[in-house]
Amino acid sequence: METALILLIATVVALAAAWGRERVLRRADEDRNRRDVAEQRSRRELELKEQAQRTASLFDRMVEGLVVVDGGGRIRLANRAARALFGFDGQASGKSILEATRNHEVASVVARLDKELEVLGHELRIDSMEAPRFLQVNALALRDAAGANDGAILVFHDLTRLRQLEGVRQEFVANVSHELRTPLSLIKSAAETLLDGAKDDPAALGRFLQIIDKHANRLALLIDDLLLLSTLDSGRLRLDRQPLALKGTVQDAIDDLQHRAQARDVTLTNRVPASLIALADNDRIRQVISNLVDNAIKYGRPSGTTVVEGSVLPDGRIELCVVDDGPGIPKEAQLRIFERFYRVDKARSREQGGTGLGLAIVKHVVQAHGGEVRIESEPGSGARFILNLPAAVAGRSS
Ligand code: ADP
Repeated sequence: METALILLIATVVALAAAWGRERVLRRADEDRNRRDVAEQRSRRELELKEQAQRTASLFDRMVEGLVVVDGGGRIRLANRAARALFGFDGQASGKSILEATRNHEVASVVARLDKELEVLGHELRIDSMEAPRFLQVNALALRDAAGANDGAILVFHDLTRLRQLEGVRQEFVANVSHELRTPLSLIKSAAETLLDGAKDDPAALGRFLQIIDKHANRLALLIDDLLLLSTLDSGRLRLDRQPLALKGTVQDAIDDLQHRAQARDVTLTNRVPASLIALADNDRIRQVISNLVDNAIKYGRPSGTTVVEGSVLPDGRIELCVVDDGPGIPKEAQLRIFERFYRVDKARSREQGGTGLGLAIVKHVVQAHGGEVRIESEPGSGARFILNLPAAVAGRSS
């Protein structure tokens, strides 16, 4: 009987111990499972965070502005380009589109999506403290699986640069038309006067034919300059770059202009050292020197002096200067002097037969050689046009 009791107690103790072990193991299992779930959850959260960061940095690399709004028209996401376009701070998220962009047109594009589902190519203007910006927006309504409104995605293209270029082109076309019309109408009225009877008066005949000849030449010059600029703009100009002794090229340009210099009693001096050898296209550089020396004769002092100088810069490039002792160029005009058709004194330029394109051609030809041109002038103390060109490396040509 006692033995049976002892056995029973032993069995109970063994069972209790087994149950205790079982509980401990189960709890350990539960703890491990909880840890696994927590780990999985935090790994998943990290993955989602990384994925969101990758997506955001991808969006931030887009040139176009991207804005995503939720069903209530509040901003969910705005990439870097959109933040820059509208001047959002980092806190745009959660704001209404109107509050964030301060632009009623953008808000109205989002409102239109309720009915239209997509709005393509809508152009809008943003007035800022600086110059206005022109944007094109494409917007698409987002719908959830049940077809309910889930916000919208808007992509903004910045058209400002394009609009500026269009403005420059329109101004250029207007200038060209004006420049062509002036000599053309002078030619036309001279021809009409001759036809009306002046042809029978030998003195008038000579005078009117001279007018026709002068303005026809001006038209031809203008068209040559325009064609050259268009070739330069398109990058189609082929330069025959050879080692070039600049002293000779400068002398050729000076010889061509000697009669014009004599007519104004201007002395032309070539001080370019014979040792200066550039890697350049002879004909084009001759044209550059010719344009600059011609200007010095036209706009410099009557009975003045124009000197062409040259030297080697510390970095090995060659510098050429065309220096006159005329009235110089006002500071504000110096910023615009290389623009097409810009003239300090319009009437003076036309009277001298200028096309208003000479310095623009100089700038483009020098740039095509990999060089730069600039002006230094103190009004009243002459003008110095300075350009640099690559030096020829011994034995190299292209
Ligand atoms: P243009 O055909 O009128 O000479 P350019 O492009 O060669 O055209 O020159 C632009 C303007 O720059 C000229 O109209 C003139 O007003 C000014 N300019 C150019 N060179 C000189 C100079 N050496 N001295 C003073 N003004 C100059």
